[in-house]
Amino acid sequence: MLFIGAMAVATSLPAAAFGPGSQLGAANQSHTQVLGEQSLFVGDVPAASLSRDGYSVLKAPAPARTASVGGYNCTVDAPAESTRVTWPYDHPVKIGDGFGPRAEGFHKGVDMLAGADTPVQSIADGVVFATGDGGTGGVFVGISHTVGGQRICSMYMHFVEGSLRVSVGQIVTAGQVIGITGRTGNATVEHTHFELYYADNARFDPIPWLNAHASY
Ligand SMILES: [Zn+2]
Repeated sequence: MLFIGAMAVATSLPAAAFGPGSQLGAANQSHTQVLGEQSLFVGDVPAASLSRDGYSVLKAPAPARTASVGGYNCTVDAPAESTRVTWPYDHPVKIGDGFGPRAEGFHKGVDMLAGADTPVQSIADGVVFATGDGGTGGVFVGISHTVGGQRICSMYMHFVEGSLRVSVGQIVTAGQVIGITGRTGNATVEHTHFELYYADNARFDPIPWLNAHASY
């Protein structure tokens, strides 16, 4: 169990600690699968490195949101409108680092401190479009959904190695367990780094969106 003191613990290490070779996980990944368009995985990599290393493979985003564009583009349609939306956990959890700028670079998601070994669930009905071990993101899952007629993708990172319960192409339902909370990749405590983005791939703060759409 995590106690309140854990909130003060940084959930990621500075990218510099890992050296340039480990900042982009795509080059050496043998277990990464992607449905549809392949793109470079950058996980929690600071925005500054995007312009040098992998940015040319991504569609140009709106300038105001440049810092929040990551890899694993949201290009795959879910088979149907989701019947409901829920949170990544079946109960309220503490939030660590929020969305936005931080010391290590732009944080493209939120860190949800549910504690070790807590099951993580899909936030909506959808189709798994990416799984693997993404380096900084550790073991991750990407799921595409249709909510309100719009394609939206959710990305979950740092699962326990070997704990994934879904694979690419699999149809999932809201609340279905997809893996177990861990600290693989660039993480110092067990948590889920959670991202949301539409087809433009620009990450946005998932908390207001979940507050507006999700229930337990
Ligand atoms: Zn994070």
